[in-house]
Parts: sequence; C-alpha cells; structure tokens
Amino acid sequence: FKYYATLPPGLEKISSDEIEELGGRIFRIKEGKGRIFFEGDFELIPKVNYLSRTIERTIILLKLEEFENITLDDIYKSVYEIDWTEWIREEQAFAIRPLRAGEHDFTSIDVGRVAGQAVIDAYKNAKGVRLKVNLDNPDVIIRVDVIFNELIIGIDTTGDEGLHRRGYRAYNHPAHLNASIASALVKLSNWKDDEILLDPMCGSGTILVEAAMIKRNIPPGKFRDDFAFIKIFGREALDEIKSQIVENKKMLKLYGVEKFKKHISGAVKNAENVGVVDTIKFIEGDATELEKIDYLKDGVDVVITNPPYGIRIGGKKMVRNLYNNFLNSLKKITHDDSRIIIITAEDKILRNAAINNNYKIKEEFRVMYGGLDTVVFVLKNE
Ligand code: SAM
Repeated sequence: FKYYATLPPGLEKISSDEIEELGGRIFRIKEGKGRIFFEGDFELIPKVNYLSRTIERTIILLKLEEFENITLDDIYKSVYEIDWTEWIREEQAFAIRPLRAGEHDFTSIDVGRVAGQAVIDAYKNAKGVRLKVNLDNPDVIIRVDVIFNELIIGIDTTGDEGLHRRGYRAYNHPAHLNASIASALVKLSNWKDDEILLDPMCGSGTILVEAAMIKRNIPPGKFRDDFAFIKIFGREALDEIKSQIVENKKMLKLYGVEKFKKHISGAVKNAENVGVVDTIKFIEGDATELEKIDYLKDGVDVVITNPPYGIRIGGKKMVRNLYNNFLNSLKKITHDDSRIIIITAEDKILRNAAINNNYKIKEEFRVMYGGLDTVVFVLKNE
C-alpha cells in the first residue's frame, strides 16, 4: 500500500520520524506543505490512526499524477480509471472531499461534482449498480486534491475529524493549541523522564497532557472510536493494535502556570479525563514572576509554551511587555542546559525579546495552523 499523511505544515521532519518509527517507508515529503508520502503494510492504517501523535489524517494513495495543464476532463478520466469496487460495497454511500490550490478555471465544487460523477459512472459500468452519495455521513470518504497541476486521489482512513481532535477535551479553551502540534513540540524538546517540564502559560493544559500521554504510553486515539477505516475494513485490525498497548503510571515532573482560575480548572478537567492529573501540578500564577513560585525554585529543564498573540490580548505593546517580562523571569529559573520552545504568531516581538534578554536562538521554523502563520523558536540561555 501507498499512503499519504497530512499534518500542520512545517512539522514534516518530526512527523516523518514518527511514521518511520511506526514502520512506514517515506518516499516523498512536501516540505512546508503538510504532506508526507509513505508506503508499508495494511497494518499501518490502524497504527497511524491510533498511535501517531503528530499526524492529522492518513489517506490510502490511489493516484498521484502530474498534468501539464489540468482540466476537469483529466480529473474525470483519472477518477474513472480506478477500480472503486475494491473500496466501496454496493450498499455503501460515498462522498468526495475535494481540495484545490493554485490557479485553475474551475472551483473545488466543480472538482467534487466531476469526481463524484466519475465514481458513479465507473461503478455502474463495473457492477451495474448506482452508488449512493451521502455528503453528511458517508461510509467511504474519497479525497481528490488538485494542487497546482498535480492530482492526488485517495481513500481517507481517518475521517472528517482530524487526529489532532483527541476526544479528551472536557474544557475548550478559546485559544487552545492543536494537540498534534503540542505533541510535536514535546518530541522536539527531547524531554526525558526525570526532567522538569514547565508550560508557564498553560491555558487548558494541552502541552502538559500530551507530554504525559507520551511518557505513559497512552495512545492518542484512545478517546475516539470513529476512524473512517473501520467502516471499510472492520475493527479487528484496530482491536489487534489496542491489545498490544501497555500503558504505565510513571510519575513525571510536569508543571503548568496560568493566570486565570477558569483555565486552570479546565486544564485539571482535561487531565482528569485522560487519567494524568496525578502527575501534573497546575499552579495559578504569573508567567512574568515565575521566580516567586515555590514549586519552581529549583529550576526547570524544559519549557514549552504558546503565549497569547496580540489579537487576543489587545495590542502589540501588551504583547511586547508580556514577552519581555516573561523571558526576563524565565532566566531566573532556567539553567545553561535548559531547552526553551515557544510557538507564536508574534515572531518579531518574540525574536526581539529573546535578544534583549540574552537568549540564543538555536533554531526557528514556520508552522501553519488554524490559518495562522506561526514560528517555533528553540531558545537557550547564552
Ligand atoms: N496552550 C494552551 C492550551 O492549549 O490550552 C493555550 C495557551 S493560550 C494561547 C495563552 C494562555 O496564556 C492563556 O490561557 C492566558 O490566560 C495565559 N496568560 C496570559 N498572560 C499570562 C501571564 N502573565 N501569566 C500566566 N498566564 C498568562
């Protein structure tokens, strides 16, 4: 089988390492485009959906074609050529989920219409049956992406809800971090079992909860049961993977600081839902006065956070003050080997605050999420 995975653009390196760990062989990466192409056994379908922490969706790749100047006719022909009887049973309903990027003289709705017709015609021709379409609750989701002159056709094994929706959120913070990104940042930090990890502006606790899930081997898919592949292949393969998981109750050193009580109690609820509240200490406090927090007085090894962006807290000046005061305070509780990872859309302000406070920027790269262009910074004390 060939597959492709989608993920927040910018995290290709971290996600391809993860796919390789799960047993996939990468054959193509679209750097900065949020797509990784790989091949491997059928087993990868339940594995990636249930176990991968940084991927958003896994799709069985049926076709990857390059055209000189792609037209709706090309799309119809390519879709028609696929043997859909292998993937869709007569009584099942399907939906096309089209995507289009680049300059074309047709819309994504046109792509969906033409591709849908091609599936119906091909099936009718092969089996004499007219397949049903159900856009709201399909049994089989077909992805048809037209990216400039490239056509990518596949069967979605994840479904409309991406894997970053873990299903454990009891409290929905208005600006919570995408869980796939949170996990990717924890992996990037190389946080070890006995090291102290702090999120000084932890909101609903996504980063800390994901970190605990990683170390306790709690599968990210544990709280979901709606993977699209179940309707196509049944649930045996998933049950097989589930039966191999051994969770543990390792005690970890996880600390979260947050200014608002409401978010703290939300974070506690989320952590309770996952079963990791016993190993995270949530503290009501101020990220600009971390040195005053007793729990942190021995220093921290790893810091991962996504501070507020200007749009939400009212004006660049406030963001500038917050970032400067936060980094100034952080200096007092970190040491030479501490790793500090910050994701923000206010990258200029963060860069300046880091320089003002004598941090070294070890690495920075762009990550897109929720329509926002953000930057991940890896800082060290100078
Ligand atoms: N990662 C979080 C999550 O997934 O829920 C969301 C973090 S949100 C972008 C930023 C958080 O920083 C908000 O919850 C906000 O209340 C908090 N915050 C803002 N200023 C703060 C300060 N001075 N000290 C502590 N927390 C602060």
